[in-house]
Amino acid sequence: RARKSINGHAGSEGEGRRFSVSLASTKQLPLQEQRSKLPIAKGKDALIQEFRENEVTVLLGETGSGKTTQVPQYLLESGIARDGMIAVTQPRKVAATSLATRVAVEQNVTLGSSVGYSVRFDERSSSETRIKYMTDGMIVRELMSDPLLSKYSVVIVDEAHERSLRTDLLIANLKTILRQRNTPQDVKGKGKGRADTNPLKIIVMSATLDAEKFGRFFSGAKIIYVQGRQHPVKIYHSSQGQVDYADAAMRTFFQIHTEYPPGDVLIFLPGQEDIESLEKTIQIYANQLPQDRMSVLMCPMYASQAPGQNSKVFRPTPPNTRKCILATNIAETSITIPGVKFVIDTGKCKEKRYLARNTGGGFDTLLTRDITQSSAMQRAGRAGREGAGYCFRLYTEDAFKTMALSSEPEIMRCSLSSSLLQLKCIGQDLETLELMDQPADESMKSSLILLFFLGALNQKKEITSIGRQMAAFPLEPIFSRAIIASKEYGCTHEVLDIVSILSASSKIFVESSEQRDAVSEARHTRKLTSPRARADCKDWCRRHFLNERALLEANDIREQLRQTCQRLGIDHQTSCGDKEDPVIHSLGHGLAMNLALLQPDGSYKQTIGQAIVKIHPSSTLCDKKTPAIIYDELVYTNQIYARGVSRISKSFIMTLGMLKQES
Ligand code: ADP
Ligand code: MG
Repeated sequence: RARKSINGHAGSEGEGRRFSVSLASTKQLPLQEQRSKLPIAKGKDALIQEFRENEVTVLLGETGSGKTTQVPQYLLESGIARDGMIAVTQPRKVAATSLATRVAVEQNVTLGSSVGYSVRFDERSSSETRIKYMTDGMIVRELMSDPLLSKYSVVIVDEAHERSLRTDLLIANLKTILRQRNTPQDVKGKGKGRADTNPLKIIVMSATLDAEKFGRFFSGAKIIYVQGRQHPVKIYHSSQGQVDYADAAMRTFFQIHTEYPPGDVLIFLPGQEDIESLEKTIQIYANQLPQDRMSVLMCPMYASQAPGQNSKVFRPTPPNTRKCILATNIAETSITIPGVKFVIDTGKCKEKRYLARNTGGGFDTLLTRDITQSSAMQRAGRAGREGAGYCFRLYTEDAFKTMALSSEPEIMRCSLSSSLLQLKCIGQDLETLELMDQPADESMKSSLILLFFLGALNQKKEITSIGRQMAAFPLEPIFSRAIIASKEYGCTHEVLDIVSILSASSKIFVESSEQRDAVSEARHTRKLTSPRARADCKDWCRRHFLNERALLEANDIREQLRQTCQRLGIDHQTSCGDKEDPVIHSLGHGLAMNLALLQPDGSYKQTIGQAIVKIHPSSTLCDKKTPAIIYDELVYTNQIYARGVSRISKSFIMTLGMLKQES
C-alpha cells in the first residue's frame, strides 16, 4: 500500500468553506468521537491483532494519523500490555509532556495517574502509571538501574525516523534485551532470573517511509502502514533565494492574511530567538491592521517552553481570528496542530553538529542549516490535514532539489561523551554495541579523551569510581565532574546554584534591545538579593530583567541535584563567604578542557587543542585582558566565541596538569 503523496490526491471542494466546516465539526466533537474519527481508528482491530502476533512491529504513518496518542491506548485497552507498563519515547521533552497531557484527557484521568510522563528534571508518574511518555534520554538512563527494562511490557520507540542519538542507543539495547527477555527458558517458572515471566514487545513508529532499515535491524519485524488522510497541498517556491528569511516570512504571512481565506498559518523557523523576534514584529504590524480585518493570534512553540505554556495553540481559534503559529521543527512530525491551512517554510533548522578538534573545534555547535527534502515534505504536509492547503517555500525549486534527501543520524555528528559514560556504567561500549550506524572515529576518540581528562575513565578505558558518580547525575560530564570536585573544595552549595542555572531550559537573564541601558544598570549596579515573599517574586524579576520561570525551574533542578548529592554522600556545604576561588576551581575540574590563555594579540588560545577563541562581546570580561580564562561553552559564528567566561589563575591550570599539552 503506497502512501499518498502530499499533493497527489485530488480534492474537489472549494477549500475556504469546506475548511471551516470540517474544522467546526472536529473541534466540537466529544473526545471519544474525535478519537474514532482519526485515520488510525479504522484499522484498530487489525492493528491490535498484529501487535498481538509480532514481537517487533514497525508502524509507519503520516503525521497526525493518531499513532502516538492512540497506539498506547489500544495496547492498554486490549490487554496486550498485560500488567506491565507501556513506554512511549520521544526525542523532545515538550512532545512527551504535551502528548501525555492529551492522552490523560482522552483517558479521562489526571496526568500522573495511569497516564504520565518522565523527562529530565520533571516527572509526573506514579505506581499507578501504565502509559508513560518519556524522552529517549530518560529511558536510556533507566537502563543503568534496570538493564532489562523489566518494568515495561511494551516499548514504543516513536519518531524513530529522527534517529536521535538516544533513540539509536535505545534501539541497540532493545535488540539485546529482546534476546534476553524473550528467549524461552528451560521450564516456565524455573527460568533463569527475571527474564522468564515478562516478555517484551517493541513497536517502532516513524513518519517517513524508510522503514526497511528498522525492519532489517530487528530481523523479522513486521512492517505496517497506516494510511493518513492527506488533502492536496499547493506548493509555491519563491522565484529567488531569500537573504533574510524572517523578513520574507513576515511579508508572506501578511500576504496570506490579506489575500487568502480563513485558516491558521504555521511558520517553520530554526530556533527560539527567531521565533521570539518574529513574534514581536508580526504583532506590531498586526496591531496596525484596520479594525474590520481578521485579528491575528500569535502562538509561539519551541522546545524550551514549560509544560502547558503552549496550550493556546491547541485551543480552537476564536471567531474572526487567524492563528499565526511560529514553530521549530517540533511541529514537523511530533506535534500536530489542528486548524493549519497555510505553511510558510523558511527552509532552515538548527542542527547539532560536532566540530572536529583538528579543525579548531572539539565541541558541539548548534548551527542554522538548510533542512532536508524529507523535512520539506513533512512541513508542507502540515497544511493538508483537514482540507486543501497551501505551502509557501521561501526558497527556490532548485534549492529544494539540491537539499540532502534526509538528515544524517545524530550519532554520526554529535559528541558522545555523556552516552559513552552511561554505557560504560552498564558494561557496554560504543565500539562493540550493535548499532544501526556507527559513530565517527574522531568523535569517539575525543569523547574518550575528555572522559579520561575528567578522571571518569582510566588508561585502560575502564570506568573509575569518579566516573560512576558522575553518571549518577543527569548532566553533561563537565558539570557532574564540577559538582564532585566541589566536595573537596567545600562549596557544593555554590556549584549547584551555578550548574542548576546553566541547566534550566532558558537563560535567566532577559535581554531587551529597547531597554539596553536599563538592563545594564540592573545587572551591574543592583544587588541581586532575593525578595522575601513569593508574591514579590514576579515583580522583582521584572525589575531586574530576570526570567522568573527559568529561575523557578533552576530551583527545582537544584533540589533534584541536591538529592543526588545526598545519595552519593556529597555534603551540601557552602564555602566561606565571598571567596570565589573554591568555586572556580571546582568548575575547573569539570571544564578542564575549557581553559584558554591570553595571547600577545589579545586573543585566547585553548590550553588543550589549537582553537583560538575570543571572549563573547556580552561578557563582562570582554576587553579586560584577563591572563587566563575558563568558559562553559563555545559558540561558533564567523569565529569561535567563549561564553560564560570567568577569570582563573594560571597556577591553578598548572596544578590541573593542563599546560603540558601546549606543544
Ligand atoms: P501521529 O503520532 O500519527 O502524528 P498523533 O497521535 O500525535 O498523530 O495526533 C492525533 C491527533 O491528536 C491529532 O489530530 C492532534 O491534533 C491531536 N492532538 C495531539 N495532541 C493534542 C493536544 N495536546 N491537544 C489537542 N489535540 C491534540
Ligand atoms: Mg506522532
